[in-house]
Amino acid sequence: MTARSPFARSWLFHRAGRALSARALLVVWFALASAGYAFDLQGHRGARGLAPENTLAGFMRALDLGVTTLELDVGVTKDGVAVIYHDRTLNPDITRDPSGQWLTARGAPIKDIPFAALQRYDVGRIRPGTGYAATFSQQDAVDGERIPALGALFAIVAARGVEDVRFNIETKLSPLAPEETWRPETFVRAILREVRRYKLESRVMIQSFDWRTLAILAREAPDIQRAYLTSQQPAFDTVERGRPGKSPWLAGLDADDHASIPKLVRAAGGWVWSPNFRDLTPGLVEEARELGLTVIPWTVNDWADLQRMMDWRVDGLITDYPDRARLVIESRGRVLPPMRK
Ligand code: MG
Repeated sequence: MTARSPFARSWLFHRAGRALSARALLVVWFALASAGYAFDLQGHRGARGLAPENTLAGFMRALDLGVTTLELDVGVTKDGVAVIYHDRTLNPDITRDPSGQWLTARGAPIKDIPFAALQRYDVGRIRPGTGYAATFSQQDAVDGERIPALGALFAIVAARGVEDVRFNIETKLSPLAPEETWRPETFVRAILREVRRYKLESRVMIQSFDWRTLAILAREAPDIQRAYLTSQQPAFDTVERGRPGKSPWLAGLDADDHASIPKLVRAAGGWVWSPNFRDLTPGLVEEARELGLTVIPWTVNDWADLQRMMDWRVDGLITDYPDRARLVIESRGRVLPPMRK
């Protein structure tokens, strides 16, 4: 199936709806549903708005809610294990040490901690009183949750018998902080090892702001889907459009050599563009579609923003609130997996 297959499927669905009986239509629906879903609902770090981010408990919550894709972040430990964690260093807003005390400052880089030692930290609750806790005030804590190995997530999803969910795996490294992580090659190989072990090549997408990882992936495993993340906000601009020189995030490309960001993604060899939703316009979605790109904005949480992204006909979206997003997506007649609980 190509990147545009959701549209082909929805066209078929409407044609079939006119031509077939209700019973036949049901058969067609099941065939379409088992072949893949028409809209890609991605639960950000599981379901960050509802359950602790990047934890097995959080991913199970996202599965319950019927996401098509689990979005997650990956770091690599001192002993080379791919683990699911957002920050390059231990984050005091969500991390308690082995004695149960909140970290008082940013901790060591994941790269400097062996996997076994990392397992002693608790990431099941946001530190009360922080701005982060206020932002995600609906999040239910699950004390005792650990930083999972990527392979542990694959194992628990398989053990639950869920064979349709996909994984969108972000490599968390920065060209601006090379000392805080392993090299891009190390990330790609640590992730591929687990993906191949669980035979998930056709169900994963690897995403990054650091397009070096995507260039390596394109060489080493060209059949694995890649998503090209961009942000053009003042506080985090990975594109550096209109500024002299190249952004270090784009693996050697200069955004100013290309007429638009969709064309820049195509020049990098990408078929999936994942922009900050605030950078998107209807014209950019249209241009991306004409180029054959799939557009999956992040991180879309508010009702009005969800509605607007659906109005612009994005192909999927990444959200902290899969429950809320589901209501909006289904109100537009788009097909989602059933709730799994
Ligand atoms: Mg992410």
